[in-house]
Amino acid sequence: MNALLNPTSSATGLPVRGHLINGQHVTDAVRLQDVWNPSTGAVGGRVAIAGKATVEAAIAAAEAAFPAWRATPPAKRARVMFRFRELLEENSDRICELIGREHGKIAHDAAGELQRGIENVEFACAAPQLLKSEYARNVGPGIDSWSEFQPLGVVAGITPFNFPAMVPLWMFPLALVCGNTFVLKPSERDPGATLLVAELLQQAGLPDGVFNLVNGDKEAVDTLLTDVRVQAVSFVGSTPIAEYVYATATAHGKRCQALGGAKNHAIVMPDADLDNAVSSLIGAAFGSSGERCMALSVAVAVGDETADKLIAGLTRAMQGLKVGAFDNSKNDFGPVITAQHRDKVVGFIDSAEKQGAQIVVDGRRPQVEGHPDGFYVGGTLIDHVGAQMDSYRNEIFGPVLQVLRVKTMQEAMDLIDAHEYGNGTCIYTRDGEAARYFSDHIKVGMVGINVPLPVPVAYHSFGGWKRSLFGDLSAYGPDGVRFYTRRKTITQRWPSAGVREGVQFSMPTFG
Ligand code: NAD
Repeated sequence: MNALLNPTSSATGLPVRGHLINGQHVTDAVRLQDVWNPSTGAVGGRVAIAGKATVEAAIAAAEAAFPAWRATPPAKRARVMFRFRELLEENSDRICELIGREHGKIAHDAAGELQRGIENVEFACAAPQLLKSEYARNVGPGIDSWSEFQPLGVVAGITPFNFPAMVPLWMFPLALVCGNTFVLKPSERDPGATLLVAELLQQAGLPDGVFNLVNGDKEAVDTLLTDVRVQAVSFVGSTPIAEYVYATATAHGKRCQALGGAKNHAIVMPDADLDNAVSSLIGAAFGSSGERCMALSVAVAVGDETADKLIAGLTRAMQGLKVGAFDNSKNDFGPVITAQHRDKVVGFIDSAEKQGAQIVVDGRRPQVEGHPDGFYVGGTLIDHVGAQMDSYRNEIFGPVLQVLRVKTMQEAMDLIDAHEYGNGTCIYTRDGEAARYFSDHIKVGMVGINVPLPVPVAYHSFGGWKRSLFGDLSAYGPDGVRFYTRRKTITQRWPSAGVREGVQFSMPTFG
């Protein structure tokens, strides 16, 4: 079972994470790159960075596997997913251990990530139903018409570090059951869990070449974006790269959906149940060290009285927050992904302070016993943040909650609408009319009402607005089915023997 994960050891004896191409493990690399254990700050393994030729080999394998996989009945494709789902459940501890070791997520958080990924596999199991065509009989005399949804061919997926199991599972199970073949380029920063998931997919009985995985960086991505054999690209990552991926892929004639970064605001209304709002804000701001694209990183308090109570409640609740190593389940959240990222997060806190905000709880130098070199940032609360501050305008992607104070709900909504990102948002209120107005008018793709992380379940679709999503279709769910298929509409007539059809020059109306 470990054959794919630890195929070779470098001179240091560390595992090398390679590629999975045509059912075989390959470690071709233009270079090896360190994979860190963020909890200890030590190098825990290495990843093979693929050059162009290796990526092209993966594309070739996917292209060769396409005709037979396309012809495989959807029910048979789905059966692979049923087995895959069981294997994911059986191996969940191993997957979560790898997520923890390379990403830093605490086991309970990694288990939640995996569960959300498995739900996407369950959705993909419904392929025969999802792919049923639209049929209309007698659109004209003796004429029937239907639309069917055909696979695209080779599809590529490019994924971020923060959900090494879940985000790939948003993509390839659905793409595969729709009849496509796939090349995945996961994050090079925590490749272990993704590689194990890929290995389990092979074990589930997927034919060789239908799914391929290459580890790599910009060179690998650029090869996928420009190769004429790749028909479509699903991307999830930061906004500058999402924009680049979308522009490059579409310029090369590909269908593309590119999900980007976020700055998710919660409005706290004067009538909110503050105790519940505080608990759920704490979880949504600091869970996974704030390294979620749906993390609530900004609270907008309506009225100074609300703000004062909110700050008092948050400050009290944060005294018990525990940051620490991934392998202690008593910790609330773990380290951030790299030392550079820790410095970037701390830099944003410094800049907020310099620009006049008030650091209420300061997590810049947390003491984590036994792990002095881990990449830790403690939970940080900042009050009196202004809309022009760098820490507000940019995605921090760390355990930092910023509070802005406004006088009215409309002012809070204007702030959210003016922000470049539009991924998720939430309102805390007991007023149904206010909540309804908010969800109706706010310019954000995913809205929570007293729900801090409104991540849609697998049978809805996930996608932000504004610069949080480039493309027309969201990820997974019904939009995923549309993204991974191409509509074809067929109109048929079988004239009765002996019936002569006259020439018709006018536009046929079938009427
Ligand atoms: P990232 O943009 O740095 O990397 C994402 C992918 O792009 C990786 O596979 C990486 O190898 C590749 N990449 C990086 N630089 C590239 C370049 N110059 N050219 C081509 N490819 C490149 O993102 P990350 O740091 O891994 O992930 C965190 C970001 O992802 C955050 O901004 C977060 O909000 C976002 N995210 C968004 C969603 C969403 O659904 N909207 C979900 C998860 C994460």
